[in-house]
Amino acid sequence: MEKRLAERTGRIKPSPTLSITAAAKAMKAQGIDVVGFGAGEPDFDTPEHIKEAAIKAMREGFTKYTPVPGTDDMKDAILYRLEEDHGLKYERNQVIVSCGAKHSLYNLAMALFQEGDEVIVPAPYWVTYPAQVLLADAEPVIVETKEENLFKLTPEQLEETITPKTRAVILNTPSNPTGTAYEKEELEALAEVCLKHNLWIISDEVYEKIVYDGYRHVSIASLGEEVKARTFVVNAVSKTYSMTGWRIGWIAGDADVVAAMSKIQSQSTSNPTSIAQAAAIEALRGPQDAVGVMVKAFKERRDVIVSRLNSIPGVSCFTPKGAFYVFPNFSGCYGKSYNGKTIKNSLDMADYLLNEVKVAIVPGVAFGEDSCARLSYATSMEAIKKGLDRIEEAVKALS
Ligand SMILES: *Cc1c(COP(=O)(O)O)cnc(C)c1O
Repeated sequence: MEKRLAERTGRIKPSPTLSITAAAKAMKAQGIDVVGFGAGEPDFDTPEHIKEAAIKAMREGFTKYTPVPGTDDMKDAILYRLEEDHGLKYERNQVIVSCGAKHSLYNLAMALFQEGDEVIVPAPYWVTYPAQVLLADAEPVIVETKEENLFKLTPEQLEETITPKTRAVILNTPSNPTGTAYEKEELEALAEVCLKHNLWIISDEVYEKIVYDGYRHVSIASLGEEVKARTFVVNAVSKTYSMTGWRIGWIAGDADVVAAMSKIQSQSTSNPTSIAQAAAIEALRGPQDAVGVMVKAFKERRDVIVSRLNSIPGVSCFTPKGAFYVFPNFSGCYGKSYNGKTIKNSLDMADYLLNEVKVAIVPGVAFGEDSCARLSYATSMEAIKKGLDRIEEAVKALS
């Protein structure tokens, strides 16, 4: 039988961040002492009171289908946080809960985009954005942001990228992979351009609570009723509460689009898991102190990793305001050699570190920025220090 696959399967590649993590895991399984900076999830356990809520739900028999877009209690917990944290008021019919924020974004792409549409994606980007736009038959239009601008999209860049085909822009603040976070004034300037051109704003805010140095995350939707009407706020319990495996994420925004997403979800996954919804309600409404404990640990690690990276000649790294990634520039190492092999780009750099000193990082090319690489500090301080010792040794060995 001819195994013809649908054309769309050829448009995208498997997530490169997951494949680096897999390569490092395979080396570990062979007994090799690898230091992994690839992790895209917090290294903390899900807080106990959240797990208990799921166990209780299970015991009480809350183990059947729920409404497709999530239970009313789940939606109300999301509405509560949006109002509490951002003063944003939504109705239940403006929220849909899905199997993680990635699934929320997928439903949104399927509901909004089609052939001939352009969607603006600032680079460095989370790898899933362009992939999902492609799966929706539309075209991701990548805008390269500048490192000296801390990898933030400027209103001028946005303006000059817009064409009559542009439907939306995808913003992610704080950002994966850079950790950069937009200030309120910067969001206002971008929102103005979006309103002028009638664009949808897709605002991925999954790292909103993982922020440092007194930075306060502002949701772009909170900048006014007009902006709110054009914005889809994307969030999840995954990163904030160390609940990546539970698969609960959501979108708040235009009721008609949310209804279309719900229709799509009803014919694909149906509802997100019942007991995971029970746990997520507890996460959103219960005590929030576990978040602070995690953020404090992340900040200490961030400070160490940034200062260690900057002390290595040929490497530079700005101090990110959020998330748990740093995005150092390794281009000072490009053109240098080891064993007769020359490092030309981020992929060579990542290969060199993995093979020669057993350190796993994600090459920046995966995120559309070849000068840099992503290191996650969702790992122990001990691992961070050991890994940085090795990176320093490896960079100094280049000639
Ligand atoms: C982790 C992540 C998500 C998705 O998280 P889910 O596990 O699907 O809830 C979305 N956006 C960014 C930028 C992420 O890093």
